[in-house]
Amino acid sequence: MTDSNVHVSLQSRSYDITIDSGCLGRVAELAMAGDALTHAVIVTDSNVDRLHVAPVIDAFAAADVRTTRLVVDAGEKSKAPEVAAGLWDDMLDARTDRRSMVVAVGGGVVGDLAGFLAATFVRGIRFFQVPTTLLAQVDSSVGGKVGINLPGGKNMVGAFKQPEGVLIDTRSLDTLCDREYSAGLAEVVKYGVILDAELFDYLEANIEPILQKDHTVLRHVVQRCCRLKADVVEKDEFEQHGLRAFLNYGHTFGHPLETLLGYGEILHGEAVAVGMTVAARLAVRLGMFDQESADRQLALLKAFNLPTAAPQLDPERVIDVMMRDKKVSHGKLRVILPNCIGKVELMQAPSAEEVLAAFRE
Ligand code: NAD
Repeated sequence: MTDSNVHVSLQSRSYDITIDSGCLGRVAELAMAGDALTHAVIVTDSNVDRLHVAPVIDAFAAADVRTTRLVVDAGEKSKAPEVAAGLWDDMLDARTDRRSMVVAVGGGVVGDLAGFLAATFVRGIRFFQVPTTLLAQVDSSVGGKVGINLPGGKNMVGAFKQPEGVLIDTRSLDTLCDREYSAGLAEVVKYGVILDAELFDYLEANIEPILQKDHTVLRHVVQRCCRLKADVVEKDEFEQHGLRAFLNYGHTFGHPLETLLGYGEILHGEAVAVGMTVAARLAVRLGMFDQESADRQLALLKAFNLPTAAPQLDPERVIDVMMRDKKVSHGKLRVILPNCIGKVELMQAPSAEEVLAAFRE
């Protein structure tokens, strides 16, 4: 076991991300690093509950911390107002108060939902994250964005709520199915394209060990991605300066696919992979990205078993959903397009026709 930390520096909201392999037993020690704790509300989903929650409960019990376990159904449908409302009641019944801590043990759904509960219950209580999917480890658990979906759009209600700490156990990925693991790799590829050509090279050179879940390679990849995201979040915590928007590479085109196909039909990471492919094509069409780099991105996504083609959807509806995206300002579509591997740019309003052509290509 080798322990590698990423420090997220956000004044009074700073925290550490601890990355290791086989380390769930350390959760209580790390959750209590800031302040003593007497009550942990563990929020998880039905799959993770069976697989990874026992050592977390044991660790809190050994540290004399009372635990309440709240289990939601696995899947995106749990990021819903009625689920949050039910959990607020459960928290009240469990005598949760301002000194309690919400501990999210699960993927991005659990992290976003649990963080939303922590941000809102009695106007905010303590929060700690134990992400168990690759996507949650490299992306959603870092940066403090939490929230739930509305029927009309994803992540429409939420808050910025930084956790007091994040514990990442790469061993939890051993039980993750191949499809979810690949979906997480889409976000990993994204970091390479938007910020880090060296990481992109490393991924290309380590396709097999990554697919085999080699923990030494995984710790390096997860650590690098967390550092990259932390760097962005430190400079633009509340998404005010445009920098944090770079992390949405692939998302503007991916989100409509998720919305139109129904949450859960296409995985978030899969939608991002298709979205990145569309974005790269659009960038090539606009003469700002070379074909060879677009091919390298395509090949890496395919090597990680990700979809790269847009399913057949009504183009008008795709554009309509895209325009309702939170990132659309004053009716103008803004997209993140690559200049080269390791660098992207926020662009205003390429025409709807160009976007549709890239979708259809
Ligand atoms: P998820 O939480 O639904 O997890 C995927 C599936 O894997 C679920 O069925 C879950 O039960 C299962 N699972 C989780 N850990 C497992 C493990 N170790 N072994 C076996 N099965 C396991 O999905 P996700 O991909 O982790 O997260 C997607 C969500 O994250 C979306 O709602 C998206 O909006 C959100 N997200 C948030 C941010 C952010 O900044 N807050 C960023 C990106 C994505």
